[in-house]
Formats: sequence, structure tokens, C-alpha cells
Amino acid sequence: MKNQHEVIAKLEQFGVKPSLQRIAIMDYLMNNLVHPTVDTVFSSLSASIPTLSKTTVYSTLKLLAQQGAVLELNIDDKNVRYDANISRHAHFRCKFCGSVHDLPLASLDAVAVETAGKFVITESQLYCKGYCDSCKDKAESVARSA
Ligand SMILES: [Zn+2]
Ligand SMILES: [Zn+2]
Repeated sequence: MKNQHEVIAKLEQFGVKPSLQRIAIMDYLMNNLVHPTVDTVFSSLSASIPTLSKTTVYSTLKLLAQQGAVLELNIDDKNVRYDANISRHAHFRCKFCGSVHDLPLASLDAVAVETAGKFVITESQLYCKGYCDSCKDKAESVARSA
């Protein structure tokens, strides 16, 4: 578990003023690396912070992403997901249960792209989709019966 001291240090490192609500949201992200959505963060924290609004969660997550403290993932077409792990890694989304997992990148060469000096890449995400370990058998039997 990351303690509150580390959470505050992380916010300050990325130039985010550590208010109580921002600390709570960053704390949640750093201790729940399941790529939560705005709704997940809000419903997990609203019991302990009754004054927290969904709008605050939304704007705080946007701010954290903009400052580079968290990654914003568009792997899920319905919901943006957030990740406190900002090291380079790929993501995998299960088409059956919707869970999002981290995949280590074998090497940066694996996703090397040729820009020919034309483009300046400021961010990139590698998304993989398929069936997770606990769904692959179920997904296969659904496919067979279809
Ligand atoms: Zn799954
Ligand atoms: Zn991740």
C-alpha cells in the first residue's frame, strides 16, 4: 500500500496542489491499479467522503492526466479509464468481462514507428483486446454454441 506521504509527494512532483479530495483520488488510483473509470472512483470514495461530487472526480482525473501524473486510457469505448502506473506498458481489454490488464512491453522496438521526421509523437498507447485468463474458456464455448 502506498501511504499518504507518497501520494502527496507524487501530486507535488507533477505540480498538482494536494487538496484533501485530490489526495483521496490519487491515493485510490495508486492503490487500485485496475484502471478504474470515473464511476468506479466515485462510487468507491463517496461513502468515506460524502462531500465528494462526481464532477470533482471527473475534473480531478482530467487534471491528473493533463499534468502527467496518471495515464488516460481510451481502450474502453464507453468509459475513459485511469492508470497511476505511468511507466511504459501496453494494455489488454477482455471483450468478455471488460477487465483491463497491464501487459509488459517486450521492448520499445516492438512498437517502433517510422515518423520520417514528419510527426512529433507526444503520447502513444498500445491496446490489445481478446479474452482474459478467466474468460477464455467461457468465450470459446459461447463461440462454439453460436
Ligand atoms: Zn475476462
Ligand atoms: Zn496500466
